[in-house]
Amino acid sequence: MSDESGNSTGTSAARARGRVVGVPKRCWCGELVVTKMSKSVPNPYRRYYRCAFAAERKLSNDNHAYKWVDEALLDEIEALTFRVGRLERTLIDDRVEEERKKFAEFEMKLETEVFSRMEDAISEAKWEMKKVMGIVALGCLTMVVLSKII
Ligand SMILES: [Zn+2]
Repeated sequence: MSDESGNSTGTSAARARGRVVGVPKRCWCGELVVTKMSKSVPNPYRRYYRCAFAAERKLSNDNHAYKWVDEALLDEIEALTFRVGRLERTLIDDRVEEERKKFAEFEMKLETEVFSRMEDAISEAKWEMKKVMGIVALGCLTMVVLSKII
């Protein structure tokens, strides 16, 4: 274990060696991962996850699962923070989308109302026009009739 102690901050290097992010559940070899306590001088009593197979045979310099518990938990927190952040962004996006929809609906309603009012105004104007035309026509007819009588 002592040869791994310098690796405590090199998470990217550890990941490059095929280690999982967060708490390892199972080693790539299929063995379960167990929790062990470090007895090394630089990391006394520091707990770590280890492949059960490798732990049983006390392997060293192998590529079986190995990870400090505190680092794994930090990974988990990081992943959780990331997920919460993403969730928050999604929620905000949803809310913005909802507002946008409401606004579009409102805009549509407004447009329809303006349009129907304009139609009303136009048909009213047409009606007025017809009335005027009717009066004019009636006037003309009266003139014609009157001119014939006279
Ligand atoms: Zn293993």
